[in-house]
Amino acid sequence: MAETIPAFPHTKDIWTFLFDQAGKPFPDSQVIFESATTNSRRTYADIRSTAQSFGANLQANWDWKKGDVLVILSPNSVDTPALVWGCHWAGGIVSPANPGYKVNELRYHLLDSESKGIVVHASLIPVAVEAAKAAGISLERVLVVGGNEADAIPHRLMHITQMLQNTPPKGVRPVINPLVDVAFLVYSSGTTGTPKGAMVTHSNVVSAVTLQSHVEGKYLDWKSDRILALLPTYHIYGLICLLHLPMHLGLRTVIMEKFTVDSFRRHVEDYSISHAYVAPPVVLYMGKDPKFQGANMSSLRMVTSGGAPLGEELVRAVYRRLRIPVRQAFGLTETTGVCHIQRWNQWDIGVGSNGPPLTGLEVKFTDENDQVVTDGEGELCIRGPTIFKGYHKRPESTARCLTPSGWFKTGDIGYQDKDGNLYITDRLKDLIKFKGYQVAPAELEALLQGHPLVEDTAVVGVFNKDIASEVPLAYVVLKDPIKAANERAAQILLQYVADRMSHYKRLRGGIVWINEIPKSPSGKILKRVLKERLQAGDQDK
Ligand code: AMP
Repeated sequence: MAETIPAFPHTKDIWTFLFDQAGKPFPDSQVIFESATTNSRRTYADIRSTAQSFGANLQANWDWKKGDVLVILSPNSVDTPALVWGCHWAGGIVSPANPGYKVNELRYHLLDSESKGIVVHASLIPVAVEAAKAAGISLERVLVVGGNEADAIPHRLMHITQMLQNTPPKGVRPVINPLVDVAFLVYSSGTTGTPKGAMVTHSNVVSAVTLQSHVEGKYLDWKSDRILALLPTYHIYGLICLLHLPMHLGLRTVIMEKFTVDSFRRHVEDYSISHAYVAPPVVLYMGKDPKFQGANMSSLRMVTSGGAPLGEELVRAVYRRLRIPVRQAFGLTETTGVCHIQRWNQWDIGVGSNGPPLTGLEVKFTDENDQVVTDGEGELCIRGPTIFKGYHKRPESTARCLTPSGWFKTGDIGYQDKDGNLYITDRLKDLIKFKGYQVAPAELEALLQGHPLVEDTAVVGVFNKDIASEVPLAYVVLKDPIKAANERAAQILLQYVADRMSHYKRLRGGIVWINEIPKSPSGKILKRVLKERLQAGDQDK
């Protein structure tokens, strides 16, 4: 049956959408977020009042203005929601950072986003302090969340509780134009190059939550369902599905700070989790890991996998083993998360596909001349209210992927079947996905180029079946191969990357020596040629 298209609440900003919900079905006392580590709980009312207090304190203490950027560096935490929506209350833009960042990565993020301040989890203070200093951010603008108040003292930082304990100053909520004003700057490398701040507007988020609630809402009941938040909420997938969707629907969400197979299994059992959003490697564990043998996972009515491709055979393996349905979703930072999803009651139709688009989005596939492909594969293009506004300070990158008529070119190749189910078959863009995390080859190439042993390099993704994920592999031309062999160059370069990049960007696929990086006459690296060489098991001696 055809789904009706919901009316878009374009006129609402995120705060109004979430906190002025007339006639919402659940009470203000509903617990929305609950920590699996500390058991602390946050009700809908708690979040609204602490967020407002945080926003008013930002205005009073940091001279916060509409459009100022706050970077949040934290693993999943029950305190994140109040920080995010408090920043929005004060008209700010939240830029979530990966808690695995090394100092140089965070410094880049702080500078590029033009952040006014940073909230850091107590466990990550040293990285934040060093990066803030390097980015010229005063330590008065580094705020600590989580841990104890005492954690902040040796570093002369302020703890968030100090900011929230004060009776909040009155403050004034600035007027937001949802279609124009940016709510999040989420870092994504897009189709090429280094990470860029994708500008996600208030309207993008409100539309994403509305469209997703429209197809999901009827299968989720605030009275009985429990969601497990194991995906990182600093990635767009978690940001929408694990923060905004639960808050809008009143769904109780159990927050996991760190994923381990044991804790995942235990939390599903202990909290009677009914739905989990995951990335493909988690589905692999469910299908193959001995720790799931004999697990009582019967409360799990659905698992939704996204962020990277999921193989059909894994979906079937999980169902055979645990009788748990697994469906797939597809999305990007630039589409404000999920844009295609297998419908809840149709997970076993078109297994291996990503289901149809959310109702309200337009889809087309184009060839290399931007002509529409009516039959067969092409580049997936999407248009609709969830398409981001562009990259912060990068008009050329924005123009490359957003057409004047509003189509967003995803850089993914695929096709749809007669029922509109999306199949992704390839990637046009230069991006590697390690377990759902973005790895920008350009960033690793730039780093490796800076090493004295390296003459030239190209980084590509290779699929590792054992972990159901792509991993980055570097082709390297050495400056002096004989000297390098004596110096155990591979080990040196692997360590060099590991010391300077987050764990998920490590060269897990290894290093392959090559005499020359194949390039087009214009100097573009021919990655496809390298991938073909790899498949053929070929390498230079
Ligand atoms: P991100 O912006 O980090 O969400 O990354 C978006 C990219 O992840 C997409 O352009 C795809 O290349 C990839 N991706 C996300 N979900 C899927 C999926 N279900 N199947 C295949 N690729 C996916």
